[in-house]
Amino acid sequence: MGFVEDELQEIKAMVEKHITGSKLEACIPAMNYPAANILVELKSRHISQKLLDGLANLSEKEAKKILGKPQILHVLKFVRNFIDENPLCCCSEEISELKQKIARPSDEIKLKQKTSSILVITMEGEYSCKYNITVPEDYPDTRVSLTEVSSSYPPVVRRWLLAQAQELARQCVEPPTRCRPGAPPFVVKPSLLPVVKFLLEAVHSIPAAVCGVCCRTCLPPHPQDVPSSEDDPLSVERVYCGHFYHHACLDTYIKTPPFAGGKTCHSCSLKIYHDKWKLSPALVEARWAHKQARQRELDEAIDFFA
Ligand SMILES: [Zn+2]
Ligand SMILES: [Zn+2]
Repeated sequence: MGFVEDELQEIKAMVEKHITGSKLEACIPAMNYPAANILVELKSRHISQKLLDGLANLSEKEAKKILGKPQILHVLKFVRNFIDENPLCCCSEEISELKQKIARPSDEIKLKQKTSSILVITMEGEYSCKYNITVPEDYPDTRVSLTEVSSSYPPVVRRWLLAQAQELARQCVEPPTRCRPGAPPFVVKPSLLPVVKFLLEAVHSIPAAVCGVCCRTCLPPHPQDVPSSEDDPLSVERVYCGHFYHHACLDTYIKTPPFAGGKTCHSCSLKIYHDKWKLSPALVEARWAHKQARQRELDEAIDFFA
């Protein structure tokens, strides 16, 4: 047998055992191999063409180092090694879009190839947040997962940021439970970009959010002045539509007339929903009337003793 046939026999026997996830599909012998290097063409469902072209170039350079010897296994090991050492290469396009188009100069996006994760550090005014985002091995079929490393926002904002980011990631990989008739079939989407984009935009906009009732900013300029109790009059509340209010402002607004048609958000006119205020408009009105009647009785009693 010739040189190429010998090498192909060896590859057939070894490739699946020695290089994880590899499979021999076809062989096209070249005329002057192994005096010349093998030509490498890389294709991938998830890795960007730009990165694949660069990796193919590097692979051919590797092959040129061992001209005259079998090159295929050597190059396959090189490619496998590159993917193992750079697991974030599956989201390289998303990372460059985040860095170039979405992140502000004060944002940091640190890649941690060893743990296949990304550290996002962002700040706005005196508020700052740090999130760790892990990219799984079968990304983008499985969504990214995230944890909060630190945050100077009040707990109500922190809970919302995490829950909303996780929900956005879930929507990228799970079809909606109720499909609209005639909607195109569900396709899995990469989840890193939407998650980090949401976190950065939210973190930058929240300190400037204004209470719909009193028109002052919901958060104090310094994080150390955030009220420690979630029922403090000046603590921040987020209603279903996404707008923010002071606790006391929202409480007074919901519990005072007019009640007709229910309460709507001052910023977007959508109906106000909040877990802490689940009362129906009729009940709120009855309570208001009851409170007013008691106040009248008290006023009359004060008049009597005056
Ligand atoms: Zn307010
Ligand atoms: Zn609203």
